[in-house]
Amino acid sequence: MEPKKATKKLKPECEQYSLDIIDLATKEKTFLSKESRFELLRHLAKCKNCRDAFIDYENIYAMTVAEERIKTPEFKKKMDNVINRLRSEGPPAGKTETVNKIIRDAETIFQFMPQDGTPIAVPELNDKTKLPLVDFHLSLGWLYCKQRVDLDENNKMAKVLPQRATPPQTQMGM
Ligand SMILES: [Zn+2]
Repeated sequence: MEPKKATKKLKPECEQYSLDIIDLATKEKTFLSKESRFELLRHLAKCKNCRDAFIDYENIYAMTVAEERIKTPEFKKKMDNVINRLRSEGPPAGKTETVNKIIRDAETIFQFMPQDGTPIAVPELNDKTKLPLVDFHLSLGWLYCKQRVDLDENNKMAKVLPQRATPPQTQMGM
């Protein structure tokens, strides 16, 4: 696997697809209607940025579910619940409660990371945030898709990406 570069900025027209991409990457359960799925695939076909984001998120998700300690029925049930919640709250046009929670948890994760860009081990970061594993990985994936955080090629180390000089809270929105 090639080292990832997460330095590209999301284009404004891509913002609307960022949650759909996460949803598509988690596969089996989707809140995407046929039409919005088709629209997303059409966008992915012409937009390399979003294709890269999709592939990255798919990798993060695959790594997450492949980890031994989360290969349990309990974990799968939790992931199902999260995905069902995403699905039942419909498309991410408005800021739903679930989206807000993902963003809130993302802020928590971000605050526990060394702000000078020093890499931190992902399991250690998870422990520090005390977030449930599923919530943690959804929000870490969110930070990654938003290019706030970079991950190494094995998704084992995370680091803060250099940003504009405004506080994280004001940049985290959709
Ligand atoms: Zn795009």
